[in-house]
Amino acid sequence: RHLPYFCWGQVVRGFGRGSKQLGILTANFPKQVVGNLPADVSTGFYYGWARVGSGDVHKMVVSIGWNPYYKNTKKSMETHIMHTFKEDFYGEILSVVIVGYLRPEKNFDSLESLISAIRGDIEEAKKRLDLPEHLKLKEDNFFWVPK
Ligand code: ADP
Ligand code: MG
Repeated sequence: RHLPYFCWGQVVRGFGRGSKQLGILTANFPKQVVGNLPADVSTGFYYGWARVGSGDVHKMVVSIGWNPYYKNTKKSMETHIMHTFKEDFYGEILSVVIVGYLRPEKNFDSLESLISAIRGDIEEAKKRLDLPEHLKLKEDNFFWVPK
């Protein structure tokens, strides 16, 4: 209902919960950006397009949810971009357009099952983003930058 959803913000440090160990890096948005999400947006995994600074637009998956470490009072929004960057981009402006919903948040009994679920989400997102209706948002004026 809220999709596509456009937003942008400065990439901040996350909780160091080891997404680097998972092999799935997630760029975190500041709380102001998360706070601007419609209150009734479902938590879970979404997919869409992302751009760092004035770079290229890439496919991404984003999780929106409650961080249990913050006693369920703090929502987080973490974006994994399907691109290999040369270096970290903390402090840069991340622009995203969320185009579709994949699945709700759920608990996993092991790290392995969590990782394989996320790998599956990434593959599914890549496929869906190739649909013409989603590809056109990659060219949206939102991502326009003066050259
Ligand atoms: P944090 O806990 O600070 O969010 P992560 O281990 O989740 O740390 O790593 C996220 C950081 O890695 C991002 O803020 C960004 O600077 C960098 N990064 C590099 N490549 C990517 C990528 N493909 N997707 C998301 N973040 C990436
Ligand atoms: Mg992170």
